[in-house]
Amino acid sequence: MGAYDLLSRLGAERKTRAAPPTVYRALDFLMEQGLIHRINSLNAYIACFGPHRPHDACLFICERCRTVEESEAFALRRAINAQAGDRGFHVTGQTIEVTGLCRACAVAGI
Ligand SMILES: [Zn+2]
Ligand SMILES: [Zn+2]
Repeated sequence: MGAYDLLSRLGAERKTRAAPPTVYRALDFLMEQGLIHRINSLNAYIACFGPHRPHDACLFICERCRTVEESEAFALRRAINAQAGDRGFHVTGQTIEVTGLCRACAVAGI
């Protein structure tokens, strides 16, 4: 869901208009708490599937139905950390976004 979708839904439900900065502050807070992840390529946010502990996510994004599946992808993140370490790069976050077709869409065919 994008920030503006969220704003219009809040407006529809509460019959008031929330200001964009309020929504962005709330989204930042939820991200800090590890309850949502930002999907940069869609400019949207998704509820975390495993918010019990902080983690970076690997998101598999279906280009057709926009379903997003989350994986912690430990091996992949270890590989990225190793590459970063080799070049002295300090990693502050790793949200990996992979686009393609989900199983249902792949089976249905394009
Ligand atoms: Zn997550
Ligand atoms: Zn799909």
